[in-house]
Amino acid sequence: MTDARVDLRSDTFTVPDGGMRRAMAEAEVGDDVWGEDPTVRRLEETIAARLGKDAAVYVPSGTMANLCAVAAQTRPGDEVISDFEGHLVVYEVAGGAVVAGVQLRGVDSPGGVPSGAAVEAAVRPPNIHHPRSRLLALENTHNRRGGLAVAADAVAEAAEAAHRHGVLVHCDGARLFNASVALDCPPATLVEHCDTVSVCFSKGLGAPVGSALAGDAGTIEEARRWRKRLGGGMRQAGVIAAAALHALEHNVDRLADDHAHARLLVDLLGDSPGARVLRPAVPTNIVMLETEAPASDVAERAAAEGVLTAVMDRHLLRCMTYLGIDAGAVRRAGGVLRAVLGESAPPS
Ligand SMILES: *Cc1c(COP(=O)(O)O)cnc(C)c1O
Repeated sequence: MTDARVDLRSDTFTVPDGGMRRAMAEAEVGDDVWGEDPTVRRLEETIAARLGKDAAVYVPSGTMANLCAVAAQTRPGDEVISDFEGHLVVYEVAGGAVVAGVQLRGVDSPGGVPSGAAVEAAVRPPNIHHPRSRLLALENTHNRRGGLAVAADAVAEAAEAAHRHGVLVHCDGARLFNASVALDCPPATLVEHCDTVSVCFSKGLGAPVGSALAGDAGTIEEARRWRKRLGGGMRQAGVIAAAALHALEHNVDRLADDHAHARLLVDLLGDSPGARVLRPAVPTNIVMLETEAPASDVAERAAAEGVLTAVMDRHLLRCMTYLGIDAGAVRRAGGVLRAVLGESAPPS
């Protein structure tokens, strides 16, 4: 094959560059379970400040950050309200149910977060028959809704409705920095009304591993106990925390390039036969295609031409742009996908 492979499956396929590897090699470290890793501490302080929260805890994954947030803010038998397309509902192996003993209540949130009225409708009135509504989980950007960036006022509306009923609010901000860049709004403003927020360093920010959960000091202390309980206490984790610090310093503003590349892919595929391109109100680095043919067939044929995509559902295909995917790669992928989709379209 003459052309290089273009991998659009996920922004988790970033690999650390030379500068990041140097930062990792030079990291000052200690035993973080004992609270003695200076680099992890610096990361926790830095990310808490960036998110406008008191404290943060560094965890191995976004899934663990979300589970710690749920476990630290609920009791078994409580109910957690979430968009039914939310990562927490679809992709976290029911961890909240299995580990924290909570019940998830899915609500439809076409705008990425539920409206204030939808939150009000989902909160259970006090009654001995009901589970206690305890936590509202939001997601920004919203993965399955096409990388939609949700504006601060919509987050505030949902969060304020929850707070009126004593329901806490968590934001799954795995890609909060993408939302921040797309909306030109500081990340702290986007989560101002959220009690806790998780962010991933391992997605578009380009670090090899790691996420953080931020919130008030008491909640984060409880989340730290949960991290240990879940087996997520790490020792000389400064080696990987250094990569996250490097990412925060160098790879946030450049997310705008990924968004431009995603727009380029939408332009290339917008009128393609055989698929409909999802167009979220504020797009970021995700391009979702509703395919007429089975998505797995399209993915397989594109892969044979060196273009890798992710099958999300029977007729839903995802492409993502990230650090290392340049405009040339996107043009090549667009050409291959157009051809494959055209072949797969039923004759009209
Ligand atoms: C990737 C992702 C997570 C989970 O992160 P992992 O590090 O893969 O566990 C959580 N929420 C959203 C929206 C994500 O995209």
